[in-house]
Amino acid sequence: MFILSIKGIVMESTLTDQEIAELRQELRERAQTLKSQVQKELLANGTEQYIELAGRVHDSGDESVADLLTEVNLAILDRHVREMWDIDAAVKRMTDGVYGNCIDCNNPVPYGRLQAYPTAKRCIACQTRYERRYAQPKRPGL
Ligand SMILES: [Zn+2]
Repeated sequence: MFILSIKGIVMESTLTDQEIAELRQELRERAQTLKSQVQKELLANGTEQYIELAGRVHDSGDESVADLLTEVNLAILDRHVREMWDIDAAVKRMTDGVYGNCIDCNNPVPYGRLQAYPTAKRCIACQTRYERRYAQPKRPGL
């Protein structure tokens, strides 16, 4: 890891074919895992869980519990689906030969960061800036 982070700092220009192949393999496995999880969740939502919930709601008249559970399930599904899109996008960037470059500043994203987050689109500096801009409410004076 130490060597990798040094490599990131000096910004060696490109990933080796071997590194790309490893990351691609990791993305493929992650996509497979996500796919089966989503299928499981859809199955659970579609059948037993739904029936059980519907019955319980009918008995108790408490619709908010069912709403809440549905929202939670949808949130998990949503997150998984988004991650699958990110993986697709990363694989496409590999195919296009632009994988591993920050989409904002075009500098190489350190291999160590890509190992931790193979779908990373930005270098840490740009990601931090991006999150600060979009993830937090605007504060007066900024
Ligand atoms: Zn950047």
